[in-house]
Amino acid sequence: MKSTPRRYIELSQLGPYPATPQIAYECGTCGDVVPSAPPESAACQCGNIIVDAASSCVTLGELAAVKAFYTQP
Ligand SMILES: [Zn+2]
Repeated sequence: MKSTPRRYIELSQLGPYPATPQIAYECGTCGDVVPSAPPESAACQCGNIIVDAASSCVTLGELAAVKAFYTQP
């Protein structure tokens, strides 16, 4: 299956980081993709990306290793 090229979003060092169904985070360390607005709290394998579903709070460890992209065109 061929996926369409991802449209990446510039992440601000200051945040707050976007948390909407249209945006997901990609961890460059473990390669996991974490939706920014999951139904339940989610995190990537290495813990660099943590999304708290209740508060829509996105916590990023090493920002340089994280990319955000649009999940829909
Ligand atoms: Zn990770």
